[in-house]
Amino acid sequence: MKDRKTELAANLARVEERISAACAAAGRARDEVTLIVVTKTYPASDVRLLHELGVRHVAENRDQDAAPKAAACADLSLTWHFVGQLQTNKVRSVASYAEVVQSVDRIKLVSALSAAAVRAERELTCLIQVALDAESGERGARGGTAPDGIEELATAVAGSPGLRLGGLMTVAPLAGPYAGRQQAAFERLLEFSSRLRADHPAANMVSAGMSADLEDAVKAGATHVRVGTAVLGVRPSLG
Ligand SMILES: *Cc1c(COP(=O)(O)O)cnc(C)c1O
Repeated sequence: MKDRKTELAANLARVEERISAACAAAGRARDEVTLIVVTKTYPASDVRLLHELGVRHVAENRDQDAAPKAAACADLSLTWHFVGQLQTNKVRSVASYAEVVQSVDRIKLVSALSAAAVRAERELTCLIQVALDAESGERGARGGTAPDGIEELATAVAGSPGLRLGGLMTVAPLAGPYAGRQQAAFERLLEFSSRLRADHPAANMVSAGMSADLEDAVKAGATHVRVGTAVLGVRPSLG
């Protein structure tokens, strides 16, 4: 366990250096960017070590794994983010531990999240996931609404009890005009964010960038980066 902590500390330090360097290069203050460590496929014991090392934001993408992990770490002061495709039958469970749901991409999910938040007497911060490769009216292969769905979802979230509109999230697309063009993809997301903020000034979170492309995201103006592999190591298989 001691070795694992040393390993995680070294990885975290490297990621921290990358974020700081990217902020400096972009003329941004380091505290404008929040690191969220994506702990999917890794055990609760790693979450505990990360907390000891100062991590306060963690993310998961499957409720089946996240719910027991969050329960095992309930004594720690951590903000749990849910970043995976979310089925409405999992919403009640997710609303019991997550403070932020970053993958809101359809109206049906908004009403389910609202009902669950009210029932749990919690406030859920919702980010709208944007699929930059989705056609008008569709969703992306990895979740997310087409850009022309943002406004309707934002209005729905903002008008729903128990929910707070936090901002936007994206995963750099593997297909379409932005495939392999992370910088351009994140800049596009920032354009959508500035349009969103015209109507919803408090919805200023922009979640973009992962292990491979966090510099591009920081440069484009992301406020939250979601880093898994670079902190915890290469994941065994899917996830
Ligand atoms: C797994 C995952 C990440 C982290 O990806 P890494 O490449 O391991 O840093 C970020 N965002 C989402 C939505 C993920 O599912």
